[in-house]
Amino acid sequence: MSNFKEGSDSEDFGIDYAPAVESTSLLNIKEKYGLFINGDFLDTSSSKFFKTLDPSTEKPLAEITEASAADVDKAVKAARNAYEKYWMNMSGAVRARYLFRIARHLQERSREFAVLETLDGGKPIKESRDVDLPLAAAHFFYHAGWADKLEYAFPQRKIEPHGVVGQIIPWNFPLLMASWKLAPALACGNTVVLKPAETTPLTALLLAEVIQDVDLPPGVINIVTGAGETGSALVEHPNVDKLAFTGSTEVGKLIQRSAVKRNLPLTLELGGKAPHVIFEDAALDQAIEGVINGIFFNQGHVCCAGSRLLVQESIAEHFIDRLQKRIDLLRVGNPLDKNTDIGAINSKSQLERIDKLVNAGIEEGAEVYKPSCSLPENGYWYPPTVLTGVQQSHRVAREEIFGPVLVVQTFRTPEEALEKANNTPYGLSAGIWTEKGSLIHWMAERMRAGVIWANTFNKFDPTSPFGGYKESGFGREGGMHGLAPYLKTKRKRK
Ligand code: NAP
Ligand code: MG
Repeated sequence: MSNFKEGSDSEDFGIDYAPAVESTSLLNIKEKYGLFINGDFLDTSSSKFFKTLDPSTEKPLAEITEASAADVDKAVKAARNAYEKYWMNMSGAVRARYLFRIARHLQERSREFAVLETLDGGKPIKESRDVDLPLAAAHFFYHAGWADKLEYAFPQRKIEPHGVVGQIIPWNFPLLMASWKLAPALACGNTVVLKPAETTPLTALLLAEVIQDVDLPPGVINIVTGAGETGSALVEHPNVDKLAFTGSTEVGKLIQRSAVKRNLPLTLELGGKAPHVIFEDAALDQAIEGVINGIFFNQGHVCCAGSRLLVQESIAEHFIDRLQKRIDLLRVGNPLDKNTDIGAINSKSQLERIDKLVNAGIEEGAEVYKPSCSLPENGYWYPPTVLTGVQQSHRVAREEIFGPVLVVQTFRTPEEALEKANNTPYGLSAGIWTEKGSLIHWMAERMRAGVIWANTFNKFDPTSPFGGYKESGFGREGGMHGLAPYLKTKRKRK
């Protein structure tokens, strides 16, 4: 009997995936979490709280302290004290040991961290297990290697840490963003006050346990949970020496205004609207997988997501048809199931934003394709979606949707592809698929994007700098370039 469905070029073996749900039994989530300041969790008796939810069920997981401006002040004082008392005089080799220890503890407890990340944020377990956790540990390992070699990274320069760094991170890669921020700051000799995002604070608080276990001197890392107001109190604090922010362009601009007034060094990693360009000679099977990964990885909650597909007109119809057939096979559902490809949307407000933008696209004339998948009743869900017939002037072609929504446009020549690719206020990442090396170089030299992938997408490594142009921010994270923002460098006098 043939396994081919009539009218379809994909095989159907009539096999359903049995559930393969990761156990949560190894988690020990507390009912309430205090702030992590000066090496300890503060008493919660007089605090204000908010709840963090599992977005796939809407069930509360824990109560989290909302740090006030006075709490932030306490954290900054602890960081200053730790800087002056321990960290600024410690040799790079000793600082490295702490970073190595954190990396090893993350590896040892990686399953626990991965399950918690998935529970608190909604991302598929196979992604937290295979991407977030290994990369988070790799960032600590990599920066541990630099801690005693900074003078080789900046030859002929006198280098010094800034002192106390304020860091604010978003909800899409909670532990990974914390690692991107903490590892270079510590390697370069700074102490830190970190504010995780309101909807995903739990892995940062588990990291606080690791920080205790590795005996990091108290106050070197402080974690203040809360919402935008807590972030703002950290930004405005007069005794912070440097700020690093990953999040939306809108909030990034507010922070920049505040930093400029005080002449504070600042790194901004902001939004994106990456072009993913497919030329007619591309290896189509691989390109389709690349496009799928580019937009549906982490439900599209990815700053560098390949959210604008630019496909050459000669292959557009065929390519989109195959892409839609591939999308039909994606499994949306329980993030803890190891077979899940697309998990839950991180929050109700994000779901509303996605829905609003897609509806705006439809109103402006786009055609929408969604597979007929059944979504769970509770929780926040959005099916993988493709919008075709999109014009450059449409909101969906210009604004970051930050969800599992791919916007398709076509082009005829490389010049037109380039023009469309660069026609955006953002400039974080881009993808190019073609067999021609010369065309890859021609495009890459002219594209205004901080990271450009060719015949692949979403490849990350701590040795490789990441960051944007234009409204995607400035400063780099990762690689040697990622050390510079955490140091004051002066030319050495001869
Ligand atoms: P967001 O609303 O800008 O929030 C980012 C962080 O800033 C959160 O911790 C947030 O707290 C806090 N915050 C909010 N208002 C603030 C204020 N006035 N002052 C100081 N802090 C404030 O962004 P998001 O929605 O969490 O994240 C999505 C955005 O991040 C997307 O645009 C995405 O592209 C970008 N992103 C960029 C990169 C990159 O490397 N370029 C990486 C990941 C994400 P609450 O959580 O309480 O709101
Ligand atoms: Mg949550």
